[in-house]
Amino acid sequence: MITDDTIADAGSELRGGRAPWFASLAALRMGWARVFSGLADVILPPSCVGCQARVLAHDTLCPSCWRDIDFIRAPLCDRLGIPLPYDTGGVMISAAAVADPPDFDRARAVALYNGLMRRLIHDLKYKDALHARRLFGRWLIVAGNELIGDCDVIVAVPLARGRLISRRFNQAQILANEIAGLSGKPIAPLALVRTKRTRQQVGLSRAERQRNVAGAFLVPPGQESRIAGKAVLLIDDVITTGATASAAARALKKAGASRIDILALAIAGSTPVGP
Ligand SMILES: [Zn+2]
Repeated sequence: MITDDTIADAGSELRGGRAPWFASLAALRMGWARVFSGLADVILPPSCVGCQARVLAHDTLCPSCWRDIDFIRAPLCDRLGIPLPYDTGGVMISAAAVADPPDFDRARAVALYNGLMRRLIHDLKYKDALHARRLFGRWLIVAGNELIGDCDVIVAVPLARGRLISRRFNQAQILANEIAGLSGKPIAPLALVRTKRTRQQVGLSRAERQRNVAGAFLVPPGQESRIAGKAVLLIDDVITTGATASAAARALKKAGASRIDILALAIAGSTPVGP
């Protein structure tokens, strides 16, 4: 017979620790998980995400590929996230950010857009190479640690509709899902849409870049409540000139976002810029 005391006992067992049968079930599950993981390693041994060489764990790089990634480390520009040649102490703003301030508050990226990182991102975009997404998720959590901590909601930079149909998925949304899953922060997948297809920004003048992305993003009616008063973390694969991120930031600010930070896998520009 189930009494209030039995329920109370069960509750205290759940709060204070698992009942013996729970513990043995959990141990059994862990045992099976180890067996399956071991079997999976035999059938599908871990290989480097960059070159397929054998490695000790899944979703990682071999030492040689690690060395081929230009990870961005401090000191860096607080606004643009680009590396700076020396540390002057405190929050540093690059000359580039002072001359042409972005519409977002802070940008951070895992690495520079060159070498292996460029190829890994290209594979993610065009070859459905989703096997790298767990590694990317872990990198983004480290590079964007401060920005993720400060954000209220995560939003991916959207693709134009035509491009989404031809590629079948939005790589920025995949990265955003990974970050949301690892950090527990909420994600708003419908809060920002792209209203026009834009040209490649590289090679365009500043005025052309701004014209190219002007009005390219919109917070659709009914989605403003997901954005208004919120600190938004925008996710993209690459920050090239920053004009796309700025255009997306303007649309989010128009909808009432309190701050907009952007986190990407890579940022273009390999030469450190002086503060
Ligand atoms: Zn490798």
